[in-house]
Parts: sequence; structure tokens; C-alpha cells
Amino acid sequence: MKKTLFISDLHLQAETPEITSAFLALLESNNEIDALYILGDLFEAWIGDDDDTVYHKEIIAALKAATKRGLKIYFLRGNRDFLIGKQFLRATGCELLADETVINLYGTPVLLMHGDTLCTRDSTYLRSRKYMRNKLIQTLFLWLPLAMRRQIADKMRASSNQHMQKLSDDMMDVTQQEVERVMQKHNSTCLIHGHTHRPNTHRFTLDNKPAARIVLAAWHKQGSALVWDETGDKATIEIG
Ligand code: MN
Repeated sequence: MKKTLFISDLHLQAETPEITSAFLALLESNNEIDALYILGDLFEAWIGDDDDTVYHKEIIAALKAATKRGLKIYFLRGNRDFLIGKQFLRATGCELLADETVINLYGTPVLLMHGDTLCTRDSTYLRSRKYMRNKLIQTLFLWLPLAMRRQIADKMRASSNQHMQKLSDDMMDVTQQEVERVMQKHNSTCLIHGHTHRPNTHRFTLDNKPAARIVLAAWHKQGSALVWDETGDKATIEIG
């Protein structure tokens, strides 16, 4: 049976070896899947493809081995790893997807996103996102020495954590209005995203048609993936 896997929000870092092993096991085990979609925040932080730590090398080698075996791996940038670039993609064999991508999943058009832009109540984040996604600002940032970039990234993460603590539960979730706007824009009745760490399937009606928004789980204590097979059946599996 043909099947496709979707994962997001692994937040990989050297400090979480169990989550890392779960991801490496997933890459090694699944030769029966057609494709693996990583919908952002694969890494807890990414400050440039030249940050070639032993840890990054290990992950890159595992991705490379998987794509070499013939597994198709697609990557969509998250708010933590939006600086993933050409060098990473070349080294791993992963294919980059645009922030909003519609795929044909065994006949069903499915919209894929990370999910951060759906949280429109958090205007402070959306403003800073504009700067961080600016090509010129990114180029200037990537010119800085790694040690300086690491310092800046640490500071930004600390201030982002502070900002998140001030937000209400509601503000950290998506708004239905934005969900519907973007789904209508892409003419899609199914959306898969991560980011909010609130795994669920939300069903609603969009232009008189049944629609669904599937939210992927973050890899907190163990891994999780959405499996979608060629008959359209969906299941969530735990990894590790
Ligand atoms: Mn995120």
C-alpha cells in the first residue's frame, strides 16, 4: 500500500538525544513510504547552512542516506529553521517547498503550511517575521561570523519565549478567518500544518463543501507522524 508521511516541529537539538534517535530511526526504517514531508521546525534553531556542527553533520548524513535510497523528502521552512538554504538542500537531497504549497495527494489537493502565518492575532510576531524573511537582512545576517549569529539567535529566542509567555492561549492559535482565506486562495478543502503544537483534526464547511484542517503534533517526549495512504485513510503513528 502506498503511503505518505507528514511530520513537523521536531525541534531537533543535541540536547534531546531520544527525539534525535526517533527521527533517525524513522529515516532508516521506512522504505515503504512514497514520500516524507517535513513541515517546518525540524531544528530548534538554524543559523546558516555553514554551521556544520557534529550534530548537524549526523542529521544531514542520515537525510542524505534516506534520499539516496530513493525516499522523497520535502522540506517546508518553519519559524525556527527558516534559514535552511541551498547548501543544506544539496547536501541532504531534500526538496524545498514554498511556504504555501498544494500537493496532489493520491488525487486529493492538499495545502501544506508550517502554520505560523495562520496565527494572525500575534501581530508582534508577524511584524518581526517580515524582517526575518527579508532577503537582504538574511544575507547581512549570514555574513556575520557564526559565533555572533549564535549570540543573536540566542537573544532572539529568549525574547521570543518572553513574548510567548505574555500571549493568551487564544493568541497562540490560528484564526479560522485566516485558515479559510488561505484555503480559498488555493482552492483547497484540506490543510495540513504544524507550529501550534495542538494536534487535532478540525472539520468545518467551506463554500458549502466539507473541509478539514489537520494539525500535526510536536515531538515533545516522542515522535509522531501523520500517515496518509493511497485510499485516503489517515492515521497518526507514534515514533520512538
Ligand atoms: Mn513553529
